[in-house]
Amino acid sequence: MEYLLIFLFILAIYYSFRYAWWTKTVNLKYPRILMYHMISKHKKGAKFNGLRVDPIEFEKQIKYLVDTGWTFFTMSELINSKSSLPNKSVAITFDDGYEDNFTNAFPILEKYNVKATIYLVVHRHNREWSSKRKKKNNNGELKNEPKLLDEQIVKLINSGLIEIGSHTMTHNNLPTLSSNDKKNEIYNSKIIIEENFKIKCNSFCYPFGLYDNEDIQITKDSFYTNAVTTKKGINNLTKANIFELDRITISGKDNILAFKIKLKRGLRGLNK
Ligand SMILES: [Zn+2]
Repeated sequence: MEYLLIFLFILAIYYSFRYAWWTKTVNLKYPRILMYHMISKHKKGAKFNGLRVDPIEFEKQIKYLVDTGWTFFTMSELINSKSSLPNKSVAITFDDGYEDNFTNAFPILEKYNVKATIYLVVHRHNREWSSKRKKKNNNGELKNEPKLLDEQIVKLINSGLIEIGSHTMTHNNLPTLSSNDKKNEIYNSKIIIEENFKIKCNSFCYPFGLYDNEDIQITKDSFYTNAVTTKKGINNLTKANIFELDRITISGKDNILAFKIKLKRGLRGLNK
């Protein structure tokens, strides 16, 4: 009996910290920016399954947002209407430009008529960028993951649902670069995306969420209208620096309960 009580007590502590139930819902007038990477089945033994949200889970999440009355915006729309957003505004974002954004995510977005923003790495094919942050990350897993082809990107754009933003030329570690290299990554990527796809590229995303003050300045000087980080949270857009926006990380390990909690509070637990 005593053991059972101790066990239940430990379980209660575990779930309390896992879901931090005592933290409050962030005011629903503040928009939620959700960060995704891949929408695909997990790979056995893979290191980056946290970046892979199963298509079945993704559809549950989108359906939940639709059923509970959220309004979807692309990032530049969100910024353009930041002083007149309805309660429950949400922007879905995908980093890097994985091919499954087209093959797995897009059919679901179309089915529910949901807008999203994809941050494209211009030179995304055959590149292992995980090692730019930590040397030991370099096992080729992200390099081998297929990336969006230009003709798929054209279809995404033509749907009217998808905004294409920039995630630099090569997914480099911006704070480690010279001023010239920073400008190449931030400004030239915008120009190339605009010329390739005959669109405006207004939205930027810092690789790895790493940036310094000069990177912010170059982003502003490159005529982007907004930039997102990987800092976890929910922004008050009328006060926030729109070149350093927080996002809600949706992990491949989140169940629907974790998703609902993150949507309410920005985090699932105390720091995740
Ligand atoms: Zn990235």
